[in-house]
Amino acid sequence: MNNTPQARWRLVLSTLATVAIIGAIVTLPAASAQAYVLLGCKWKTGNFTYVNYTTSLYATASNAAISNWNAKTSVNMTSSSGSKLTINKVYRGNDGAAGATAYTCQNNGLFSRADLTVNTFYLTDYSANKKRLVFAHELGHAMGLDHASSKKVVMWKDASSFDDFGIYTVQPDDIAGANHLY
Ligand SMILES: [Zn+2]
Repeated sequence: MNNTPQARWRLVLSTLATVAIIGAIVTLPAASAQAYVLLGCKWKTGNFTYVNYTTSLYATASNAAISNWNAKTSVNMTSSSGSKLTINKVYRGNDGAAGATAYTCQNNGLFSRADLTVNTFYLTDYSANKKRLVFAHELGHAMGLDHASSKKVVMWKDASSFDDFGIYTVQPDDIAGANHLY
């Protein structure tokens, strides 16, 4: 009795997979023209605050990443002890993520808070610039950007943008994403 619906489902899946592959090839030029992706949540304005709980090398890297976003985009992040955006370093062990940003989005599409963390399990062995990339990437999430479709940007999904291309500062597409939001 179950065989027929299951067979049909498999057929639908394989058809969808084929369409997705064709679609990906066709849309490649468009993707390279604009690679940034929006998270669907943002702060009310580009002038928002943060509180940075990191220290030593992590403070150096995170502050450099903040300065870079501020200098290159319409975003202006400033330090404030009561901020709803926190920057932290934690030891999460070998969980596969060098950084993570947890956020709460209100019904009006605005953040009510965001908590950025980097995982010292990985970052302790990263160079100063690779640490900067992780902070720059998580800051991108914390302002409302999702993973981009280009590898040569800060908002690529993993640190291969640094390992393969040496990227640790915001790139034109990252800048366009931030300036689209604010
Ligand atoms: Zn990410």
